[in-house]
Amino acid sequence: MLLNHTEPGGLYVHIPFCIRKCPYCDFFSITDLSLKQAFMDALMHEMELSGDLSLTFDSLYIGGGTPSVLDADHIDKILEKSGKSFKILSDAEITIEVNPGTVSLQQLKNYRSAGVNRINIGVQSFHGEHLDVLGRIHSKKEAYSAIRWAREAGFENLGLDLIYGIPGQTKKSWLWDMQEAIGFMPEHISCYMLTYEADTPMDKDRQTGRIKPMADPLLEDLFDATITFLNINDYEQYEISNYARSDTKGLNTNRSRHNRKYWSFAPYVGFGPSAHSFVEPVRYWNVSNVDKYIEDLNAGRLPIAEKETLSREQQMIEWVYLGLRQTGGIQIEDFNHKFDVSFSSMFGEVLTDLEERGLIAPVKTRCTLTRKGMLLLDSVTSMLIGD
Ligand code: SF4
Repeated sequence: MLLNHTEPGGLYVHIPFCIRKCPYCDFFSITDLSLKQAFMDALMHEMELSGDLSLTFDSLYIGGGTPSVLDADHIDKILEKSGKSFKILSDAEITIEVNPGTVSLQQLKNYRSAGVNRINIGVQSFHGEHLDVLGRIHSKKEAYSAIRWAREAGFENLGLDLIYGIPGQTKKSWLWDMQEAIGFMPEHISCYMLTYEADTPMDKDRQTGRIKPMADPLLEDLFDATITFLNINDYEQYEISNYARSDTKGLNTNRSRHNRKYWSFAPYVGFGPSAHSFVEPVRYWNVSNVDKYIEDLNAGRLPIAEKETLSREQQMIEWVYLGLRQTGGIQIEDFNHKFDVSFSSMFGEVLTDLEERGLIAPVKTRCTLTRKGMLLLDSVTSMLIGD
């Protein structure tokens, strides 16, 4: 099936606050929580101003930042305002990201009663020493409590985020982290490889030698071990970093409906500072500055920083890159239909080369990466479509 903006879209709300910045993070957030109320007012205004979209939505994702620094009545307001401003289907997936150390059982119960039906917890690790290296504010005890509380609060759709590749981590400690995670039977697990994003404090520490990144062979071994371990335990990989277990009917409903929109060219509309939106073929994003965001909305302007219309070539690049991220890969027929070209004749020689190098599986109806190819996604994409 060809995925495009005839399918329902996703709404994203970016909460730009964190208690403290983690040294590896390059998401936009600030630690001045005194701006919370002014931000909330601006956000309500932004939704009102954007309310004439002729789209239907079946997911709403409240991410950040740390959304759980907001009170339950803030979340209530966000859901109420988005329900009034947009056409949201009654069975929409409504997710909130929370971080341990910023939530209580009561708060989670309130989020659930407000209508949030999916929760994603930024556990990252169950080892205190790894949490310290990551500069997280929470302890492992708080991670365990947050997960238990989420279940107690009635969340039947639970996702846990973990990080591997942390300096000092071993294969044994990583396998133990995953073992602890699956002990809670989460519906979804995301395992992110630690990356050293330019200009982050952790990247500076790497450059000065204060931090020694994990060696590549171990990193590759952990990536491989992640897929194997989770598959054995009934978590199917559906994207490079994302795994879900089937629901009780054996269906894939535990895969993140919202995140799949980013990889499948479906429309998504973002609110809040730095939030990105895409309604084919236009992509636009908001200013990454809370003061400016509030100022723009106070003046009755949408806080859009930039807007671009993707050319056919840019769309092809995105299609290939996003398709390859998913284990289902690029569906050749969809590509051919979408761009009115033949995938095989366009990439024929490169495909043979990639296959010989063990980076993609033999191409039949789909083009999919091998495990080795997943580790080298950027290189595979460049080989296919150039730099
Ligand atoms: S809590 Fe999340 S968003 Fe906030 S600084 Fe840490 S990694 Fe970044």
